[in-house]
Amino acid sequence: MSKIISGKELSAELKAAMAARVAEFPAKYGRVPHLAVILVGDNPASVSYVTGKAKAAAEVGIRNTTIRRPADISEEELLGLIAELNADDEVDGILVQLPLPKHIDEDKVIAAIDIRKDVDGFHPLNVAALWQKQPCTLPCTPKGIMKMLERAGVAVAGKKAVVIGRSNIVGLPVAKLLLDANATVTIAHSRTADLPAVTREADILVVAIGRPKFVTADMVGDGAVVIDVGVNRDPETGKLCGDVDFAAVEGKASVITPVPGGVGPMTITCLMENTVECFLAKMGE
Ligand code: NAP
Repeated sequence: MSKIISGKELSAELKAAMAARVAEFPAKYGRVPHLAVILVGDNPASVSYVTGKAKAAAEVGIRNTTIRRPADISEEELLGLIAELNADDEVDGILVQLPLPKHIDEDKVIAAIDIRKDVDGFHPLNVAALWQKQPCTLPCTPKGIMKMLERAGVAVAGKKAVVIGRSNIVGLPVAKLLLDANATVTIAHSRTADLPAVTREADILVVAIGRPKFVTADMVGDGAVVIDVGVNRDPETGKLCGDVDFAAVEGKASVITPVPGGVGPMTITCLMENTVECFLAKMGE
């Protein structure tokens, strides 16, 4: 049987510790951190993510303002809203829930966020800093994955890590963090030849592709550590499932993360941590 890393339990612990810290902020700094979340349109997945973020902020004691705008908001209006939040001294973190409607240039919107308030770590200067090993705000999902590995006692240095997926928000940054932790990293993608042969070599396998139960037992080496980032609907049951066929892979892996209750909660917890860090940086800490 695999050891299951519960992102839900680790998140609960980290949030409780953060809440105790944040409770001291009003006396020390005069207020608590403030996260502004912009939700454009009413995509159900986005609404659910934004609700989860608001709930986590309440648990930690962070002030959360969710700003809802219709799907037909113009790019100019959205950029104007970001400029207002950038200028607002009482806003410490700005998050624009992605994806945005097609008529809006996401890159332009992300680049418009004041880098000091970029709690998602998606701003091009934060990305550049990550790749140059400079201090930066780390993107939440990769940060959460590294915390899970640490919590499970997985020694990363010297290990063969395979990341399936090369997106800007998960695949590439988690590969960089694993590299910085001295793993030997392979990044696989949709054009990788003989993917199962590549993934079977992995001591640590991170899967971020967005295909339900794509990774089957024959793709996993005995005793591998398997981190499942995927959030999908199982076409058969309609329930949430990951990119890994959990039932088949559990037992072969030494360590595995579940979906739901794995990487997802850690992403939100790291968002709270990033908000606290941006707040403290502003307070000169
Ligand atoms: P994405 O931008 O769509 O990227 C998917 C990546 O998977 C691409 O690099 C793609 O390769 C690769 N891929 C697709 N099909 C493949 C195949 N058959 N074989 C090998 N590689 C394949 O997705 P993303 O934003 O990284 O998200 C990935 C998954 O993680 C989604 O389910 C998403 O919902 C989930 N997610 C979860 C969290 C969380 O907190 N739990 C956070 C973010 C994302 P190419 O580059 O060659 O096209």
